[in-house]
Amino acid sequence: MNFIEALSTDNLDAIKTIPKTDVHSHAFLSTRLENLEHWLGHPLERPPPKMRGLEGMMEYVNAVLSDHIITPDSFKFVASSGIRDAVQDGVVVLEMSFDIRLAEYYPDELVGVRSFLDGLIEQYRTQVNLRPELGFPRTHADDSKLMALAHEAIELKLFQAIDLYDRQEACPPEAVKPLYKKAREAGMKLKAHVGEFKDAEEVRRTVEVLDLDEVQHGIAAAESVEVMRWLSEHQIQLNVCPTSNVMLDAVPDLAAHPIRALYDNGVPVTINTDDLMIFGQSVSEEYRNLYRAGVFNAEELDDIRRASLVRGVSNPDN
Ligand SMILES: [Zn+2]
Repeated sequence: MNFIEALSTDNLDAIKTIPKTDVHSHAFLSTRLENLEHWLGHPLERPPPKMRGLEGMMEYVNAVLSDHIITPDSFKFVASSGIRDAVQDGVVVLEMSFDIRLAEYYPDELVGVRSFLDGLIEQYRTQVNLRPELGFPRTHADDSKLMALAHEAIELKLFQAIDLYDRQEACPPEAVKPLYKKAREAGMKLKAHVGEFKDAEEVRRTVEVLDLDEVQHGIAAAESVEVMRWLSEHQIQLNVCPTSNVMLDAVPDLAAHPIRALYDNGVPVTINTDDLMIFGQSVSEEYRNLYRAGVFNAEELDDIRRASLVRGVSNPDN
């Protein structure tokens, strides 16, 4: 059965068998909540269906998850289990973001990180193309030790891509420009979270300042036809996470998701999980949800899937 047939007959098992990518996934929250519960041996409170933005999400994370996911052992479990979840979902290219603070888990810092990442790549090599991404939190742009560590990680060639996240207001893109310049020189793919909640002009500005290849979220670009045209001309891909946008109330519901406007204006889009532990929808389920909500027909979703694979596997680092 092909992808179009699988979607139009609502056959999730068949959808899962067809190759796809996940290029917006944060390792710390990358596995299903059920898997964490099973590993811990006890249930956890579910996230509310609507949270007030990133602050609302962090309230839930701090109240329910933090104690269980910030130890070295639990992090190792979550990242490995997240990769297994992706494999079971038919993900063949997985760009997973690893926060630079991970180095604090190891007495030898980046040496430990390297052996951990190399181990993961090796363990799952036959099942998925795992491309580790250096994650840097905007809240720590003025933390000189962490910034130095991120620079060193780039020099050591530990990561194939870089991502910037956390509250957009926490630092302007200029604050990380030297880090991104170094990542560019090292041949890494450049990504950053921007325009998850607002605004179109800041999406374009961040792409220009950091010379981004791709944007994580970026859905606020849909407010401006001019910015969408600009993204389309420059073929800047937006890595969209529909359920995340709905649950964090950036978008009222799936049917109203601006991914439709972005696609219609020629902006390259991909469909991704963000934080499977919180949003609970695999890439296959996200495709199915968009189909069921009438946002795209099956042929359009297959176009998006195929384009993400072409871009995912044609990368020279692959
Ligand atoms: Zn994200």
